[in-house]
Amino acid sequence: MYITIEGIDAIDTITNNYLYGNRERLFLNTNLGCNSKCSYCYLPSLDLTFGKTPNNIIQTEKLLEMLNSNTNFKKGKDGTILSLGCYSECWDEINKEDTINLINILLEYQNPIQLATKKYISEDDFCKINLNKIKHPNHLSIFISSSTITQFQKYEKGTIDPILRFDSFKMQSKYNIPMYLYIKPVLENITITDINLYIQIIKQYNIDAIVGGLFTTGEGVIAPISEGKLYYKDNNNDYDYIVKELSLYCKVYRYSIEPIKQGIKK
Ligand code: SF4
Repeated sequence: MYITIEGIDAIDTITNNYLYGNRERLFLNTNLGCNSKCSYCYLPSLDLTFGKTPNNIIQTEKLLEMLNSNTNFKKGKDGTILSLGCYSECWDEINKEDTINLINILLEYQNPIQLATKKYISEDDFCKINLNKIKHPNHLSIFISSSTITQFQKYEKGTIDPILRFDSFKMQSKYNIPMYLYIKPVLENITITDINLYIQIIKQYNIDAIVGGLFTTGEGVIAPISEGKLYYKDNNNDYDYIVKELSLYCKVYRYSIEPIKQGIKK
């Protein structure tokens, strides 16, 4: 479904998913749904399109209009963190150009922008981002997400091979854009089996890592996404071990906004 400006009022419930959050962080989605079919995905519990290419793309102008009229949104370098890609794969073929277009406009506001993906970001695509607009170290950060390397065909079967995915990291040193290995969630007895491969990637690309928890329905600490429908699941036994081991080789954060809140990475 292509959302028109005229039709937006009629589907208000859906449009709320395109932009939500609080003063500290707002989530923006250029599409709703994902065809990556990760076994642990929370989209089905939110009734969002899962397992096939969705066509819920929103016009960039409309999304910007929603952002600029949102009372939580504070513009500027120290303003609201803008996170892309939680209710969709923002680097999918269907909406990648919209994501790039959106980033290029958002960069003018100077707010910290985060993009998370399980796709490969080619240098050609990356360079469509207007890097001349980047004004401060955390202006744009990119998170390459992975919960397993050797078993991705089972648990992240609609995604791209993680080894190719990680090749996106080469842009960090070449263009001086902070990039992070985003291990989220830690899959019990699965992620840990690839710990040495993750360490190898960290060393090869000289990147830092975020190791995040699993979201679930039920009870507990409310997750930053989903507006109260999802909670942090208690971290499994592997979580602390992975954090400890990776910390020997890089800085490890537990939440994706920590690098921004703590200042700047290396
Ligand atoms: S990439 Fe993210 S949104 Fe897409 S299926 Fe996997 S976990 Fe869900």
